[in-house]
Amino acid sequence: MRRRNVKIIATLGPASTSAEMIRTLYATGADVFRLNMSHLDAAGLKKVHALVRQVEKEVERPIGILADLQGPKLRVGAFADGSADLVNGDTFRIDLDETPGDKTRVCVPHPEIFAALEEGSSLLLDDGRIRLRVTEANKDYAVTQVVTGGELSNRKGVNVPDTLLPMTALTEKDRRDAELALELGVDWLALSFIQRPEDVAEARKIAKGRAAVMAKIEKPLALTHLQEIAEIADGLMVARGDLGVELPVEQVPGWQKQITRLCRRAGKPVVVATQMLESMISSPMPTRAEVSDVATAVFEGADAVMLSAESAAGDFPAEAVEMMNRIAAQVEHDPTYPGIIYAQQTQPEATGADAISAAARTVADTLNAAAIVCWTNSGSTGLRAARERPQLPIVVLTPIETTARRLALVWGVHCVLTEDARDLDEMVERASRIAFQEGFAQPGQRIIITAGVPLGTPGATNMLRVAYVGSDTKRS
Ligand code: PEP
Repeated sequence: MRRRNVKIIATLGPASTSAEMIRTLYATGADVFRLNMSHLDAAGLKKVHALVRQVEKEVERPIGILADLQGPKLRVGAFADGSADLVNGDTFRIDLDETPGDKTRVCVPHPEIFAALEEGSSLLLDDGRIRLRVTEANKDYAVTQVVTGGELSNRKGVNVPDTLLPMTALTEKDRRDAELALELGVDWLALSFIQRPEDVAEARKIAKGRAAVMAKIEKPLALTHLQEIAEIADGLMVARGDLGVELPVEQVPGWQKQITRLCRRAGKPVVVATQMLESMISSPMPTRAEVSDVATAVFEGADAVMLSAESAAGDFPAEAVEMMNRIAAQVEHDPTYPGIIYAQQTQPEATGADAISAAARTVADTLNAAAIVCWTNSGSTGLRAARERPQLPIVVLTPIETTARRLALVWGVHCVLTEDARDLDEMVERASRIAFQEGFAQPGQRIIITAGVPLGTPGATNMLRVAYVGSDTKRS
């Protein structure tokens, strides 16, 4: 049982791909595991997926799995000497010729780039360390001037921040990976380098409801369509790594705030990702600035904070998760936390689910209740309850395992798998019993129950009930 609202996502990789380490990461606080498809083949995906499910079975708690698709990551080709020194002011050509490159040219094997580049476009290479400006654009090559030079080696990444590339967000590899991940039963599919809402729509067609779809916001063009992307996606990730390459890095914190607020208004889960505890890749302690960065995301009311290389390839994966857990718990007990969280509260939308969720929070506050207990099938009532950011636990009861696993990354939600109740009495009795058994309410305390009646009808949240946890609950 966790005593915190924000969730922790831990990326799995060479440092953590064993049942023992996954068990440890879960025990220290990871709620969701991210499988990074940039570094996994089909066999690797199957193996890691099976390990997480094995641990899930042992701990008897739903665990979320997020498969992060590689997306159209662009890269330069190879150099004859393995690398070349690009000098400020020099001319450098990029083209489709696969002959190994030198200090005057290199292959960029992506025809889509040449179709889109214009004179004046910027190209960023190797995580933004090298910057080129296009002086002549053609359909199969471009001439550039080196604005910021440096050593460029084989296969380094290419970012084209200010140009809409005529390419789908889902490459052939992504489609294969997505199909396998969906067959295996991952809970979230994350899409990399999306540019438009249509990219998310395409992924939804592939997912066909089998997994929730998370849009990673890492391209400036996606920022210009944020609202539509948030409407069509099931959740958003502030993917600060690539976002900080494509945008001036000082703009990232402001966007993090805007994206988090937009998602909170929309009631869509939002993840803050990348370099959160970066120094813990090689050190058992984070920097003060990193602690403050995690704390900021928690104060903003993000649904989840994410570890990447810290848990996937670092020397201290468990320490990194534990540190995130400690920071989150401390922030959520800080006297300023409720005020900061509520400052961003937005009005309920005109739906039964929102009206009931807002009322549940108010009633719970007035009665000093121990927990809000929501019955849900699709999980949407759980999401709307979380949107209220109540200062008491949200216990979600669902008969559907995928719902429980997806909600593992949602703020404040504790999911329990249970059959649909047959009638109202059973619904109240079971809600009280589970709230007690899971440690959220004691006999004599009140809980607030929300549900849709008739029970099991999707989208019909229309009932709020105040119930006492009975003194005989222990025995039932
Ligand atoms: C990012 O760029 O911040 C990110 C999460 O994506 P990836 O780790 O796949 O590059």
